[in-house]
Amino acid sequence: MTTLPPATPAASARPADLQPPASGPFSVLVVEDQASVRAALVGELKHAGVFDVMEAASGDVALQLFKLRRPDLVLLDIRLSDHNDGYWVAQQMREAEPGGWTPIIFLSGLDSDLDVWRGIEAGGDDYLVKPVKPIVLVAKLRAMRRLLDMRRRLVTMSEELHLANQRLNEMVEVDPLTGLVNRRGFDRILHSEILAARRDGLPLTLMLCDLDHFKRFNDTVGHVQGDACLREVGRILKEVCVRPRDAAARYGGEEFALILPNTPRSGAMTFARALGSLMDRRAIAHPDSPLGASLTLSGGITTCVPDDSTSAEGMLMRADEALYAAKAQGRARFFSFEMQMDTIEQLRG
Ligand code: GH3
Ligand code: MG
Ligand code: MG
Ligand code: MG
Repeated sequence: MTTLPPATPAASARPADLQPPASGPFSVLVVEDQASVRAALVGELKHAGVFDVMEAASGDVALQLFKLRRPDLVLLDIRLSDHNDGYWVAQQMREAEPGGWTPIIFLSGLDSDLDVWRGIEAGGDDYLVKPVKPIVLVAKLRAMRRLLDMRRRLVTMSEELHLANQRLNEMVEVDPLTGLVNRRGFDRILHSEILAARRDGLPLTLMLCDLDHFKRFNDTVGHVQGDACLREVGRILKEVCVRPRDAAARYGGEEFALILPNTPRSGAMTFARALGSLMDRRAIAHPDSPLGASLTLSGGITTCVPDDSTSAEGMLMRADEALYAAKAQGRARFFSFEMQMDTIEQLRG
């Protein structure tokens, strides 16, 4: 059996025979002070299918073009006729794109090992000795293009990953039944609102709401209807949260929580009455409530200007105690711990 040698192009082959496979756009900045050498390089590049070629005869122009046009590859001569050499230009380019990395290939007549060393030290990725054979130039172009494609794919993937992560973070804080913030989101928001209210010296209100006799609701019409009812309550709570930072959460089961920044005691009572009357207007039928034909809810309110001793747990405990008081006083009302009064008494007073 005869083994065929690998298909290696002849060293004399022209770049046109070796065109890199078409991929995304590809631009090259050629920095070369000698006009004839520059023209020859540009010709080779165009022949190789690179049509976006920028030219610079000096280091200063090269840097300006680099910053303005962001080429995908730089071919950089070392000995330039102005005051700066290619090493300096490469260093400036690296400093101009922190976190980025545009490939730089040095092209130079200098061919000692030390020259190669300096070129790589200065930030170059490769070093070619002039005159460069077209086949070698095209091979290097292919390699750089492959790296660029890979980097572009990586950037796209990491952007997609970032977006997916963001969505996931949002999703883990949403209650699937009502679309309200769930317990996890509630904990985070309450914590950060306590810190904000403490910093600004503003009152913060926390309200815990619990549907009245909801077990009877489920027992009479079933859980599917019960779920639909919870969704409707969720919509009502969203509707009463008109200020952008007011947050409604499903705390668990048939319990909901409202976080109301910059809301003093009296404002909290007003809010609670508005919520109660919206519930009345919506009149969600409750087939087995001792309180009437419509579903009602009870709420516990606590309001404070947080200080160093205020904690989320402490506020929750107070709101829970106030909710217990609202239930004990007959349900279908909100009790404010700090006002020592519920929404029914307030209306009578
Ligand atoms: P109270 O006025 O004292 O609050 O009485 P209640 O019946 O509302 O309170 P209890 O704690 O005895 O019952 C709460 C009920 O809420 C129990 C359960 O049937 C219902 N529930 C909790 N989570 C869900 C849910 O996700 N879907 C449905 N359909 N019902 C739920
Ligand atoms: Mg030169
Ligand atoms: Mg309950
Ligand atoms: Mg209940």
